[in-house]
Amino acid sequence: MGQLAITFILLFSSMGHAWSNHYLVTQGALCALGESANVAIPVTSFSALIKDLGKSTPVEFNKDLKIHTRYTFEFKLNEREGQAVSAFDVLGIYSDEPDWGMDQDIYETDQYPELWKDEYGFMGGRRGFSSQGPRHMYYPEWSVSAPVASLKLPANKIFQPSGAAPERAQVFYELSQAALAAGHPYWAVRFLANALHYVEDVTQPYHAVQTPSKSYVVMPFYKAEGRGFKNYVIQVQNIVSYYHFAFEDFIGRLMKDGRKDFYLALSSIRAESSQTERLDLMVIRHAKLAMKRGAEAASLSFVNFPKIKDPYDTFDPKVFMDATWWERVLSQANSSTMNQYYALVSDLFKTLGASIQISVNQSAGLHSAVRTFAPVPSMYQKICQ
Ligand SMILES: [Zn+2]
Repeated sequence: MGQLAITFILLFSSMGHAWSNHYLVTQGALCALGESANVAIPVTSFSALIKDLGKSTPVEFNKDLKIHTRYTFEFKLNEREGQAVSAFDVLGIYSDEPDWGMDQDIYETDQYPELWKDEYGFMGGRRGFSSQGPRHMYYPEWSVSAPVASLKLPANKIFQPSGAAPERAQVFYELSQAALAAGHPYWAVRFLANALHYVEDVTQPYHAVQTPSKSYVVMPFYKAEGRGFKNYVIQVQNIVSYYHFAFEDFIGRLMKDGRKDFYLALSSIRAESSQTERLDLMVIRHAKLAMKRGAEAASLSFVNFPKIKDPYDTFDPKVFMDATWWERVLSQANSSTMNQYYALVSDLFKTLGASIQISVNQSAGLHSAVRTFAPVPSMYQKICQ
């Protein structure tokens, strides 16, 4: 157990972003809501928001939210106080925000060391980018419907879920409601976008299972590039990271290139406007769906992405995924196994799209609060038409 436990501790210390660009996923889903998601909202300052929420300093606000105390909520859309901005754009851009540092290094002694749990060692490191892992992942408890994919370490936690993604989604949803009640629709929309991030993350199978394929764990022993027990931890970490990045970056690239099927999948199910769901339960539901497709995601990753040609322990996924790598993968973009991979992602996106719509619809007060403003330029036309 000792060797194996150590193995997994570093296994996930270089996790990816899930779907590379959240804004494309969020906005693709919002297209199903039509112009009602493209309303103009008035911008208010962060200092006015926190004052109206009864906080005296940004640090106090961050501490209540349990995010990094020095994180700052910056404007990325050229927002100006008193002017309007498109809710469609805010929901999109800020659904990437939880990857910008708020959840990183939060277990340091000057932050919230009390939040650290032993099982978080299996979801990312204590420091740096990967320290946001436990909040951006959710491994459901062991399940008979996915008996292999749902196996995880530590073994004493196998019948319990791990990861704080459900809780974080709910925290931001409730903050969004509080901002709305305090008369700050801009911040309500932005925090709702932050909440959506966590739902989107766990829809990526590599965020919902520890090792989607058990092959990753044995490759160091039988592949030519394997080094056996030598640097075993690093070898497995590099292999899993590579397939994790490839799986989400390739979809991100195709979406950026304007490939329609993923946008169509995201907007193919129109959620009933009366549907409601707590965001924490929504995250759990999506993680379970992703977990069930974990093994399939892993096997399609093996066939669709170039084999690693370097010794696993010195292999760097980000260096390997250079221009030549992209050329090779893009040249296979229409193969039958690629189409199976797109179909798998599209399945996950259909349910995700509906959930994004439910999240926005149930903030109904938000719509009534902002309908009166004149339209402003937005990304709506570009994404939805
Ligand atoms: Zn994330």
